[in-house]
Order: sequence, then structure tokens, then C-alpha cells
Amino acid sequence: MGWQELEARYYHQAFRRFPVTLVRGEGSRLWDDEGNSYLDFTAGIAVTTLGHGDPQLCEAVADQVRSLAHISNLFYTTPQLEVAQRLVDNSALDRVFFVNSGAEASETCLKIARKWGRTQRDGAYEVITAEHGFHGRTIATTAATGTPAYQEPFAPMPSGFTHVPLNDLDAVDDSISAATAAVMVELVQGESGVRMADVDYVQGLRRVCDEHGVLLIFDEVQTGIGRTGRLFGYENFGVTPDLIGLAKGLGGGLPIGAVLSSETVSVLAPGEHGSTFGGSPVACAAARVVLDRVMAPGFLDEVRAKGEHVQARLRDGAGRGDRITDVRGLGLMIGFDLESEDVATDVVEKARSNGLLLIKAGPETIRIVPPLTITLDELDEGLDALDAARGA
Ligand SMILES: *Cc1c(COP(=O)(O)O)cnc(C)c1O
Repeated sequence: MGWQELEARYYHQAFRRFPVTLVRGEGSRLWDDEGNSYLDFTAGIAVTTLGHGDPQLCEAVADQVRSLAHISNLFYTTPQLEVAQRLVDNSALDRVFFVNSGAEASETCLKIARKWGRTQRDGAYEVITAEHGFHGRTIATTAATGTPAYQEPFAPMPSGFTHVPLNDLDAVDDSISAATAAVMVELVQGESGVRMADVDYVQGLRRVCDEHGVLLIFDEVQTGIGRTGRLFGYENFGVTPDLIGLAKGLGGGLPIGAVLSSETVSVLAPGEHGSTFGGSPVACAAARVVLDRVMAPGFLDEVRAKGEHVQARLRDGAGRGDRITDVRGLGLMIGFDLESEDVATDVVEKARSNGLLLIKAGPETIRIVPPLTITLDELDEGLDALDAARGA
């Protein structure tokens, strides 16, 4: 049996996968089990910050797994505290709680918001989120996400969530009531099509949340850790939130998530929340390398320059071949629209046969989220393959 038949036979049939079995990666390149190579514009959905097989990350992880792989949060471990210090010292927030995934980071933000609302705002518990947002696949984060197709199979959803259109400040203002504990948004909506929150809107959210005395939460699971050309996405907006959720890029491919909170919102008491694997020594050994590299002088300047180069090339070539109708993004989190869902699907497939891996975000949007370490030459090589796939 081939690998893909094995999957069909044994795996819960819950994914629609590309017909490619990847076996090895190096930098921004991947190889399948038939020896074909691909340039990677996906980074495992904005995860492999330093590319595949980064020597420093591999060595740190190998050293850590040999000395201490896991011991639980009943003890102090050193990689976790080194990452905690780096995150807090380089952010506008004060404390960290480590988890394993984006959903768990969002879930933790929701629990903190509820505890805070219960104790500091007369039992407020409701969270307002944006339509077309994405916060994870647990029951509560599915309720926060709001997309009917994600919710219906699992109804009834937990109560306490209200959804409003993105970039409509009045809608948030009108929706806040005595029951509201927090507003939670992505700064760039990743899964639903790289939809950007406006700077004015995000600054307005801070003002409205302060006026009403409710928390402002940014789901930075995808925008965090250099993806937008700043260590944290909120730096692009000049706004300090009360809580942020992180995951995807933090471990450079190892599973780790984190919640950063301001001091007044750091309300979880012993026994109220936990995570067996959260902030494990191995994941944190990887995150330590990721953070040191992303924060090294010049690294984020290059991410911004690379992102601008990609956007400029997409705009330049927009009218040739299959037309590109819109280009948007921040740093190396870029989306562009083609004229229809079918064209977008077709371009992704043709690009793959030209040796370029791309993923979609929403029906007619293709997302470019490569490793942050990708070179300009590799970006051009990939964009050439994309042009060929569009017949440009
Ligand atoms: C991917 C994503 C999540 C969910 O992360 P998982 O690790 O898949 O649970 C949550 N929020 C945002 C903004 C994401 O992009």
C-alpha cells in the first residue's frame, strides 16, 4: 500500500490533503517521497519561521531532548523560563502562560477573560469577535470563530459569543453590554483570506474597550513572532492589548503556544488552569532559538523588505495571465485574490507541478507565508513559478 492509500485506510477522513507525501526539508525547500523538490511558500501554515532543518534549532532540540524532554509544570524548568523572559522583556505585556497550540492559546485567553470578568466586572463573560475570524477548533474557540459551517456539526455551541463585522467600530461599540468581558480579534485575519484590520479601527478598539472597561485581546497565533515584519503584529498598529495568543511561528515547527497578559489581567490562580505539555523543555528550546534569531539586528528589516518585494511583484504582474484582483498583507503574511475560486484552485495545482507549494486562504485567495528566512532569490524563483502557473 502506498502512503496515500494507507491514509485513506487508517486515518480519520477529516482532511482534504494535497496528493504529496513530504519526507524531508532543508531551508525553504521540501522533497517528496518520489524525489521531487518544491519551494515552500507555506511554512506549514506560517509555522516554520526559520525554514526546515535549521541547524541551530535542530542542535538545541537534540541537546534538550537528551538532557530533559519532559517533566510537567509541577517543577521549574529552565528553557521555559528563558523563553518567558524573552517574550515578556520584548513585549508590552507582563506575564506568560505556555500551551501547545493556537486553539489552546485562544481558549486560555477566553478563560482568563471570563475569570477577569467574573472577579473585576460584575460577572461579565461575553466575548465579542469579528466575522470571518478564526480562533481554533475546540468547542469554545469554534464558538468564538463564528463560521456557521464550523459550528453546525457540533451544535449546540457554548454561549457567550457575539460576532460583528471587521473594521466596523460602531458595531463593536453597540455590541458591548454589561455582560461583555472582552473583544478578541486577529490583526490580519489569516484563515479567511488575509483580511487586514485597519489601523484606525484597531486604535479605535483600544479606545472603545477602555471607555467601556473591557479587555482587548489580539489573537496573534498567526501574526506573532516576526510574521508581519515586527516581533508582534500589534506593533504595526501602535496599540497595546491586554492579552495576546501566540502559537504557529513560536516554536519554528515544534508545537508550542503562549498567552501574554498584562499584570492586571494575570488572574489565573493555582489549580484553575493547566497544561501537561505546555512550555515543555523541548518546545521551549526551539522557541528560544527562534526568538533569538527573529530579534537579531536586521532580521525583521529583511522580513519587511522581502514582503514589500513580493507585494510589488504581484502588483506588477497582476494584469498578465490569470488576473490578480487584489494584493494585501503585512511582512511575509501576504494574500492575493484571483478572479474565481476555480482559478485560484487551478493556480495552486499548477504551481505545485511547477515545484512551488502554495495554500489558499478563503475561496479565491492564495496565501504566501514562507519561512521568514527565505532568500530574495528563492522568492523570485517561486514568483516565477507562480507567474508560469497563471500563464503570465
Ligand atoms: C491557526 C490559528 C489558530 C488555531 O491554531 P491551532 O494551532 O491550529 O490550534 C487560532 N487562531 C489563529 C489566528 C490562527 O491562525
